[in-house]
Amino acid sequence: MKNKEKDNSKEKELLEKELKKSFFNLKFSKEIEGKFREYLYSQMKDFMQFSILLGIAIYFMFGLLDYVVYHDVYKTLFFFRYVIGGPPLVIVGYLIMKSKTERQIQILFTVTLIIAGLVIIAMIFFLDDPTQRYYAGLTIVMLYAYIAVGLRFRYTLFIGLSLLLIYLVLAFLIKKPDESFFISNFFFLIFFNLIGMISSFWYEKSQRKMFILSSLVELERGEFEKANKKLKELSVTDHLTKLPNRRYFQEFIEREWKRAIRYKEHISAIMVDIDFFKRYNDALGHQRGDMVLRKVANALKSITRRAGDLVARFGGEEFIIILGRTREESAIKIAEKIRKSVEELKIKHPDSNISEYITVSLGVASVIPIKETSCEKLIKAADEALYKAKERGRNRVEKKEVGKA
Ligand code: GH3
Ligand code: MG
Ligand code: MG
Repeated sequence: MKNKEKDNSKEKELLEKELKKSFFNLKFSKEIEGKFREYLYSQMKDFMQFSILLGIAIYFMFGLLDYVVYHDVYKTLFFFRYVIGGPPLVIVGYLIMKSKTERQIQILFTVTLIIAGLVIIAMIFFLDDPTQRYYAGLTIVMLYAYIAVGLRFRYTLFIGLSLLLIYLVLAFLIKKPDESFFISNFFFLIFFNLIGMISSFWYEKSQRKMFILSSLVELERGEFEKANKKLKELSVTDHLTKLPNRRYFQEFIEREWKRAIRYKEHISAIMVDIDFFKRYNDALGHQRGDMVLRKVANALKSITRRAGDLVARFGGEEFIIILGRTREESAIKIAEKIRKSVEELKIKHPDSNISEYITVSLGVASVIPIKETSCEKLIKAADEALYKAKERGRNRVEKKEVGKA
């Protein structure tokens, strides 16, 4: 419990630290980064799988364009697109469907786009078309990398830059780089990539920030709920004995009372009071007295374990037990069992008139309640029975009829 609280505050500290890091720093600290990746994977997996399948489908459909636009060489283009590019893309697509981690899906996504990009570059240079129509295909692949949701910045950067570089190098090697369309292509490609990088960086930054903020909210909500639960427990629990307190007892009996009226069932109460307890305190001190209260409370708890039973601290050295669906005879038996078990605790009492040990007196009352009567009557009768037990010598059980009026 304590450890967990410590973990929480440590995690909170780590999360808050992330918020203070420089704007250009994307990576989290090791602990947080791992969680972020897991979160990202669970959030993005389905969408990334869908989007990569769509991308591969688009790639295959472009074969139609090959046929229409470059009719005379379409067979060679088909060779590039389907025979060279097809199988690796199908394999990677399949692996993406099977991917198990965030890293796997990112890498496979990257490989897919690189393959598609390379095939398009190959076509551009093979075609030797002065209008460079397939140059647009390359921008589609790059666009896909930069804005396809879920691909992290570093991977988009890798795709964009490596395709750009390969295109430029080939252009220099194979073509005359001073041709005007190349100059304009370089220009467009470079700025296209720059804009893509900004957008992809910003997207990942936002996703990371959202992750940190939502984790913080989640942590704080957990803490709040825990504190709330504890507060609720405290308000209905007696601090010393950990038994329900009188307030809880009141709620409980009112509920049970109504239930007993509805089902016409018996409900019994046992009032328990420690004998000569003031003297015990006077002789051995309050602290020892408190210990006795705890021991007696535990003894009471261990005897009444049924669902409809309740043991509560009624006040001072008095306890009350409510027994749902229990007749007077059984209640008396239980009271007797309690009396014996306290006696058998054998807690030395230096100043009792009746025993060398701590003992209790008990008063029992039982009734089938009817409407218009209040549960106070039952409690009053049990209290009167207790008084009788005190009068008749203590360390005993007495009963009392519940008044009709
Ligand atoms: P009787 O046999 O007639 O019940 O005598 P008693 O001394 O037990 O009864 P009395 O009502 O005169 O005194 C009750 C004592 O219980 C007074 C107080 O010292 C003690 N007491 C009440 N609450 C606590 C508590 O929380 N801790 C301790 N240690 N003692 C308590
Ligand atoms: Mg008392
Ligand atoms: Mg007493």
